[in-house]
Amino acid sequence: MADGAQAGLTGGCQCGAVRYRLEAEPTGTNICHCRMCQKASGGPFMAFGGVRTSEFVIARGAITTFASSDIAERGFCAQCGTPLTYRALGSDRISVTLGSLDDANAVEPARQIGVESRLRWLARALNAPETRTEQWLARAKIQAVHNRQHPDAET
Ligand SMILES: [Zn+2]
Ligand SMILES: [Zn+2]
Repeated sequence: MADGAQAGLTGGCQCGAVRYRLEAEPTGTNICHCRMCQKASGGPFMAFGGVRTSEFVIARGAITTFASSDIAERGFCAQCGTPLTYRALGSDRISVTLGSLDDANAVEPARQIGVESRLRWLARALNAPETRTEQWLARAKIQAVHNRQHPDAET
């Protein structure tokens, strides 16, 4: 992690139109189970880590924002829809979605928040039977897929 922080963690959206760099190691890391994070991600929860806004650098493109309430705005790529940021209005900090980091394992959430909305099936789902992607592709008889996802690196 120290190496990553010195080099600056990088990330971006699925299509590559938006790329960003963090100039500090994220703190206040969490997964948030709140209903707004479920809706904003389309997933069961969101994972975040934050830096000062001055330590968040947009390296390519532009982030579109939606003020999901009168206290916060959520940033995303307008071209592919990837959720990228969360910022409390008036705050000098901004959080990025940990899944949008090029190394999504680099930052580990330290807390769970919004737990009153944690989905009842979440713990059971994480213990459900497992399938690797290549097994799923083989079963679906898919030989090759043209992947349009931006690589997990600067281009
Ligand atoms: Zn995009
Ligand atoms: Zn939330």
